[in-house]
Amino acid sequence: MQFISTRGGTEPKDYCEVLLEGLAADGGLVVPEYLPEVSAETFESWRALSYPELATEVIGLFATDIPRDELARMCASAYDASRFPNRAIVPLRDIGAGMTLVGLSEGPTLAFKDMAMQFLGEAIEYALGREDRVLNVLGATSGDTGSAAEHALHGRDRVSVFMLSPQGRMSPFQRAQMYSLLDDNIHNIAIEGVFDDCQHLVKQLSEDLEFKNEFNLGAVNSINFGRISAQIVYYVWAWLRASDGVDAADRADFKVSFAVPSGNFGNILSGFYASKLGVPVERLVLASNENNVLDEFFRTGWYRPRSAANTLATSSPSMDVSKASNLERFVFELVGRDPARVAEAWRELAAQGAIDFTVEQLRFADEFRIVSGTSTHADRLATIHEVAEREGVLIDPHTADGVHVAADFVEEGVPMLVLETAKPEKFAATMAEALGRELEPSAEHQELLDAPQRVLNMPNDEDALRLFIAEHALS
Ligand SMILES: *Cc1c(COP(=O)(O)O)cnc(C)c1O
Repeated sequence: MQFISTRGGTEPKDYCEVLLEGLAADGGLVVPEYLPEVSAETFESWRALSYPELATEVIGLFATDIPRDELARMCASAYDASRFPNRAIVPLRDIGAGMTLVGLSEGPTLAFKDMAMQFLGEAIEYALGREDRVLNVLGATSGDTGSAAEHALHGRDRVSVFMLSPQGRMSPFQRAQMYSLLDDNIHNIAIEGVFDDCQHLVKQLSEDLEFKNEFNLGAVNSINFGRISAQIVYYVWAWLRASDGVDAADRADFKVSFAVPSGNFGNILSGFYASKLGVPVERLVLASNENNVLDEFFRTGWYRPRSAANTLATSSPSMDVSKASNLERFVFELVGRDPARVAEAWRELAAQGAIDFTVEQLRFADEFRIVSGTSTHADRLATIHEVAEREGVLIDPHTADGVHVAADFVEEGVPMLVLETAKPEKFAATMAEALGRELEPSAEHQELLDAPQRVLNMPNDEDALRLFIAEHALS
């Protein structure tokens, strides 16, 4: 399998090559040169597999340049008991009203990003070893991405992490998860500023190609195709588990819907690819918070990203995104995989700040089957409260956005599988507001909160950051 750019301007590359890259050289995103299809018989043959075995099959459709036994070893290690103590790995749980939670937050940082990041840690180490290279990951985080990346990469050879976070802006739990990692290859840097300042510093250094090459800088952000491919696995897994009880003869026609709390469009894009593989998906339900650029796109066909200044800080912070970096991959499919049309659309976007896909949306709404909705602060509080009262189940604010929006699309006979993107412990303040009482941390979580922390405080100063990286980067 080779990978090409959505804008058509690059030579095809293999999976391991695109793992270590960010954007394609022409500014587009890398996509598989074709979307593989999996037959109903093959899905059946996967039914008895464990999660890591299924991951080997699904990721193996794309990572054809990694030998099968290597890939199997990497998947076994990514999803082993030290990282996923709940051996169901991705447990399904009925929450009434026609909905089932798909538990994607059983990994080390209690959020769905672990599902892909743990695999990516293995894959990056393999790809670097193959090329005898090192990588210094430079990133900015408002919480979830940084801790998932660090928990996937700490203690590994050939890779170090420089993670910028806004001083004093993360929850105590998020801080503890990151700053308690004491490995030599993890550098937590708290910047005097907000998340945008952190992101701006990363951008400045990454755009300085000389500096980037001299210090082997790279990223593991949400456009990384390795992450997208590893996320497809749990859509296949969830459909297999939801259809386990269905008569064998009826399984191929047994449809489910997925509801996905969305920000950068990475998670739901993987669901879209899963449907293209052949998973019987009735609908993909995209849930936005108040930053509802994607909801607007799917309802009207207009894509109008907003500036950082016009992005609200909400109580589902990991969805506070107003420029969905993965959307270009979906648009590539929407325009019939025509790279010239994508390049033109993104030129239009740069010039006018918006792109009009109303024609395509109308024409393909039935084929693509993505619907959407918006959930607000009041909606998520009410949903957390209601699910707790009705089912005795605590869901986090992001998952609550998913449940709230999903409610409008539940259909008789079609299970609505809502992706649980984080555990409630990470967002204690909003949980307390919704429930009217504080959540008691478990003994294990209290231990994490009390563990020694290491973090470097730094002014919002590009030169100070350059100097620190120059002194500490692997070479
Ligand atoms: C990252 C994240 C999201 C958004 O996922 P995307 O792939 O960016 O759409 C939703 N919920 C939580 C808890 C997250 O950490």
